[in-house]
Amino acid sequence: MTTPLLHLDGVSKLYRRGGLLGREEFRAVDNVSFHIEDNEPQVFTIIGESGSGKTTLARMILNMVKPTVGAISFKGQDLASIRGETARRRFMKEVQPIFQNPFEAFNPLKRVDRYLYMTAKNFADVHSPAQLEAAADAALNKVGLSIGEVRGRFPHELSGGQLQRVAIARALIPGPSMIVADEPVSMVDASLRMSIVNLFRALRDDLKVSIIYITHDLATAYYVSDRIIIMRKGEIVESGPARLILENPQHPYSQLLKSAVLSPDPRGQGVLTGDSAASQQARASPRAQIVS
Ligand code: ADP
Ligand code: MG
Repeated sequence: MTTPLLHLDGVSKLYRRGGLLGREEFRAVDNVSFHIEDNEPQVFTIIGESGSGKTTLARMILNMVKPTVGAISFKGQDLASIRGETARRRFMKEVQPIFQNPFEAFNPLKRVDRYLYMTAKNFADVHSPAQLEAAADAALNKVGLSIGEVRGRFPHELSGGQLQRVAIARALIPGPSMIVADEPVSMVDASLRMSIVNLFRALRDDLKVSIIYITHDLATAYYVSDRIIIMRKGEIVESGPARLILENPQHPYSQLLKSAVLSPDPRGQGVLTGDSAASQQARASPRAQIVS
């Protein structure tokens, strides 16, 4: 077997909950293992409802949070062994984040083109003003924008969809081999979601970037994913090829997620609070075997 691009081996994150008395350990991520092959770029999707541990997992993959138990390696290097500025920068160049709310990711008082120039300076070794603009424009072109559309603009002067595209352009400048996108379209207008998700497929095919796409939205997941894992309360309940799993989910929780999407909650939240037979069964059911 060749060295995987990303490998998680028995990863858990424990937090303490409660006051001084009665503090208890709580597993935000519980014994998660999977790997992403290095030989073929893919869109690898992590699905789960709110609180299932997706962001905690993303932050561990981005080396922003350390696992309490288990190990994560990227291209064979254990993230725990990354020490010092040079090693950290090398990792950041390879693995880039996209966050949920682009308006939080950008300082409201800073012009968005500055982020692109700074990233080009820091990670692409580009320095002259003309080259910086060219690097920013090239990255923006990959996401359907141009420097003319963002030059001198502040974040609030762009739409959520445009700003998320700028965030993706910025993430592309270092030439990463993996992007970790944590609910990247949940703050974007529904009408624009598909176009952003489509971008991920284009990046996979044209730039050979693997994407970890984190979402609670099965519709976009179904459309864009090569492989998926379904998480519930920190654990993987099901994993495998996306179409196979989403068309024929085996685990009761996956079935419940699918039915929740197909028949939306009239309150519009899509939160799985129902006490249907499927949800009771999901709670009672033991974890499905993980195949990754
Ligand atoms: P998701 O992204 O799927 O909504 P999160 O990873 O954000 O899930 O959270 C998973 C669980 O871990 C939640 O119950 C959350 O409250 C808890 N959690 C996340 N971060 C922390 C933290 N820094 N300290 C304590 N609990 C946390
Ligand atoms: Mg989250």
